[in-house]
Amino acid sequence: MYFTRTSLNYTINETSLSDLINYNEVLVLEVMSEIFEKEDIICKCPVCTEDIYALSLNSLPAKYIQDSRIKNYIESTSYISKDDVKKVVMNAVRKVHNNPCH
Ligand SMILES: [Zn+2]
Repeated sequence: MYFTRTSLNYTINETSLSDLINYNEVLVLEVMSEIFEKEDIICKCPVCTEDIYALSLNSLPAKYIQDSRIKNYIESTSYISKDDVKKVVMNAVRKVHNNPCH
């Protein structure tokens, strides 16, 4: 491991930035949990799971948002819906399934 979340220093000028979360990461986690519960045909080994997660996140723009501005983001034109995220994750599932690294 080159770095871990807990080893990173998120404090700049006494302000903690650790609460800023990539909103698309939240949606990818939700969608992946749902898909992994339902789908039996996909490989759920750690390598494939990480590959699906990384491929999904790399296919989406980062959307770091302060907690207080999530409502504004959801109502904005740049909002990427959970359905759109689901399409991206399913595409990643297909790619990893067809070309697994395990
Ligand atoms: Zn696998």
